[in-house]
Amino acid sequence: MYDVRFYKGNYKWRQKQANQDRCSAYVEHHFNASANVNSNYAMVITGRLASQTSKSWGRWYARRISEQFNSPMGGTEGILVGGYNGRGNGNLKYTRMPAILLEPMFISNPQQAAIVKDVEGQDKLAKVLAESIVSFFPDNSRIGFSIGHKYKTSRPRDRGASVYGGGTEADYAEIVMEKAKYILENYDPAKIIEEPEVIEEESQLSPDNDIRVIKNGKEIWLHNDIDEDDDVLWDQDNRILYITSNS
Ligand SMILES: [Zn+2]
Repeated sequence: MYDVRFYKGNYKWRQKQANQDRCSAYVEHHFNASANVNSNYAMVITGRLASQTSKSWGRWYARRISEQFNSPMGGTEGILVGGYNGRGNGNLKYTRMPAILLEPMFISNPQQAAIVKDVEGQDKLAKVLAESIVSFFPDNSRIGFSIGHKYKTSRPRDRGASVYGGGTEADYAEIVMEKAKYILENYDPAKIIEEPEVIEEESQLSPDNDIRVIKNGKEIWLHNDIDEDDDVLWDQDNRILYITSNS
């Protein structure tokens, strides 16, 4: 059986704790949301400098979700490397092990929101997550779980996007992760025989979330209270940098 640990606090802190505990893998669970209620694709984000293992694991998960729930895959074969305009990268980049950020379905889509709220749907989501871990990481591995948005020290009330018809992204992500933890902690390899793949060490180093303005090589402005879940968008035409909080 696996040893599953939940990590709380700000995203960087969670990842550093998972490194210290020598986790073999790290997963952060989100759900997607869009103004377009028809959006329904399955997607996994990996860090910008993710290893091949992270990418293969993410693709495996996205493909299985798409098969199980009859939904299309987003990104490139189900994964988006480096996140949306870099958003999502900070949730993974400090990990020294394979790490993925899950966006299995859209809670803004009425049909998919209904699945997320349904116990059977939650069990199915948890099973896919647990199976992806069993396929890529050997039995007895320690696995780090992170619930997107929830338990951040910086914004304790953040729960992410709203679920169509009520509820929040983070509360449902937590339900699914708790179920996956249960499956993994009761996993008996005698019942299912699978060959685990070889895991390589991985390091993801890139700058912090700070935003700097540098003129002629000299830093003239620094903004450092940007949350990892904020959208940062440079409007090239109007030369405006937009920073939008999601909570
Ligand atoms: Zn989210």
